[in-house]
Amino acid sequence: MTKTGVCVCSGGIDSTVAAAIAAQEGYELYFFHASYGQRAAKREKEAVAKIAAYLGAKELKFVEILFLRELGGSSLTDITRRVPVGEEVNLDKEKETPSTWVPCRNLVLLAIASAYAEVISADAIFVGFNAEEAKSYPDNEKEFVRRYNAVLEKAVAFFSLPPTVKAPLVDLLKPEIIKKGIEVKAPLHLTYSCYLGEDKHCGICESCLHRRRGFKEAGVEDTTVYIHKQGGNSKFQIPSTKI
Ligand SMILES: [Zn+2]
Repeated sequence: MTKTGVCVCSGGIDSTVAAAIAAQEGYELYFFHASYGQRAAKREKEAVAKIAAYLGAKELKFVEILFLRELGGSSLTDITRRVPVGEEVNLDKEKETPSTWVPCRNLVLLAIASAYAEVISADAIFVGFNAEEAKSYPDNEKEFVRRYNAVLEKAVAFFSLPPTVKAPLVDLLKPEIIKKGIEVKAPLHLTYSCYLGEDKHCGICESCLHRRRGFKEAGVEDTTVYIHKQGGNSKFQIPSTKI
């Protein structure tokens, strides 16, 4: 019988590589994407639609959970706050969470994706959680996945089999994820990473800087078009008033 997997996809590199791994493992893919009021919601949604089509997804489910923006607490959803750019970003921090953290977002996303998974009797939920993100965000750690799976056993009906959350990149850093992506033929060219949501990647937010460095360290050509060509110095201009 065909295995089915819900792919929680932001449109970025990590979740796209995780979805490509699911495809390679023979899962029938059911893509899931949420708009939670993030600045890049439109671009992410466009990217996810292309990625889902590329990977032959059986279904694509978009949900809006704008209450996360109403709750506030994040520079990703609150346009009165600045998204750190350029030299304000420290890519090598350990256990230091930046202002781009959206309180409990992954927990909320997983809860909704789990409801979707139960409805379609999915065997697994694939997420792009990884060691690079876990430096900043504790909800990317292996322990978070383990504990969530334990909760999930008691979160579905007696007639349902709980799906298993799978995080195939949980031990990998960005260059390793990109290499893995090449290996599993992930459509990296269709991904969108920027926190700011412009047509092109800004090139200087934390997510863009991780993307640039990841490709460079992986030794893989980066075909992304960045608004700001340079990285990591004080010559940056502010890309737009939306920061
Ligand atoms: Zn950016």
